[in-house]
Amino acid sequence: MKYRFPTGIPSTRIPAVRWIVLLCLLTTVLVLTGCTVEEFLSDDVQPIEQTQTDEDDDYYYTETAEDCWEDEEFDEVDQLCYSVVYCDEEGICEEEEYDFLDLLFGLVDELVWGVAGGDFEDAAELEENTLVTYRVDGNQILEPELAAVTDDLLDFQADTEAHQKIWVYFARLVPPEQRPYLTKYVVFTDGPDEVLAFVTPDTDDPTKWLLGVDITDTSNPEELTFTLIHEFAHLMTLNSGQVSVNEYLALEPDNEELYEEAAAACSVYFPGEGCSEPTSYINAFYERFWADIYEEWSEISWMEDEDEYAAAAEEFYLSREDDFVSDYAATSPEEDIAESFATFVLKPKPTGDTLADQKVAFFYDYPELVKLRAEMSGRIYSRLRRR
Ligand SMILES: [Zn+2]
Repeated sequence: MKYRFPTGIPSTRIPAVRWIVLLCLLTTVLVLTGCTVEEFLSDDVQPIEQTQTDEDDDYYYTETAEDCWEDEEFDEVDQLCYSVVYCDEEGICEEEEYDFLDLLFGLVDELVWGVAGGDFEDAAELEENTLVTYRVDGNQILEPELAAVTDDLLDFQADTEAHQKIWVYFARLVPPEQRPYLTKYVVFTDGPDEVLAFVTPDTDDPTKWLLGVDITDTSNPEELTFTLIHEFAHLMTLNSGQVSVNEYLALEPDNEELYEEAAAACSVYFPGEGCSEPTSYINAFYERFWADIYEEWSEISWMEDEDEYAAAAEEFYLSREDDFVSDYAATSPEEDIAESFATFVLKPKPTGDTLADQKVAFFYDYPELVKLRAEMSGRIYSRLRRR
C-alpha cells in the first residue's frame, strides 16, 4: 500500500508537517483518571475470552433498551444507550450537567502542541510502520491484512483485541452515518509519543479514506478522544462531498506540475486533494480566517530546510498566538479547522472574541454541526459514565 500526502503537496518539498496527523504529547502527563486505555475501554467492551463464542469478531458489548438511563435513548444500530444532550437555538447545550466535559474542557488546551510536525518524512516510512490494515464496513472492521513487520512488533500486530477496542471507541464517538468515506482502518506504530493518528485518502480510490492509529499511543483517554475527533474533522472537511477530488493528482501526488496546474484552475480554496466546493466548510473557513495570511504562510510551508521551516513556523504562530486554538492549528488551514472543530466539540461555546474564539464559534453557524456536537457529547458521556 502506498501512502501519500493528503494535501497533495510533494513530500520532498513540504516535510512532515503536511501530514494530516496529530502528534502525541511528549510533555505533560495529564492524569484525569489515571487509567490506561485498556481500563478506559474495557468496561463497555467485553474481554475477548467472554465474548468469543460462535463469532470470532464479536468484540461489541451491547445493551438493550432496558439498560438505558432516563436521559438516554437506545441506538438500534449500535445496540447501545446514548445520552441525549439538549441544546438551545444558540447552540448552547446542557453540558454543565456533564462532569466529564468539564474535566475534558480544562485539558483540551494542553492536549496539542508541536508545530514542527511528526517523524514521517516520506511515504515509505509510514508504510514501514503499518501493522495491520482492516476493511471498514459500518461499525465492523474486517479482513485484517497483516503487514510484514520486525519481530519486536509481532505482539502489537497480534493484539487483535486492542485493535478492536480502539476502533470500537472511534465508532462509538462518531456516528456511522458521519463516516461513509472511511473504508480502511490501519493499526500502526512509530513508537510511543510521535504520531498518534492520521487520516489519508486511499490511493485505490481517493474518494475514500483510511484512519490510522498508533497502538502504542492510546493510553491517555483524553488525548485519544481529542485526536480521534480531530481526525474525524479532516474526514468531515476534506471528503469528496466537500472537496472535489482531483483523480490525476491522486495518482501522482508528487507531481508538482500537476499540483500547480490544479491549484491554478481552482478559483476557491485548494486544500491539495482537489478544489474545494464554494460552500464547503474549509472554503468558508479559509475565506474568513486565512485569506489574509495565506501568502505569508505559503512561503513558510514551501521551505525545504526543516530547521528553517520549524523556526519560521514557530515565529508565524507566536506572532499571532491568539488567532489559533493551538500551535498545531497554525500549521495549515486544514489543521486549523480540525483543531478548532475538536475544540468546538469538547469545550463550551466561547464567550471571548479572539480569532481563536471566532474559529470555534464558526461551527455554531451550521445547525447540522451543532446537532452533531450534541450527539457526539452524548455518545462520549454515555460511555464514560459507565466506566
Ligand atoms: Zn490533523
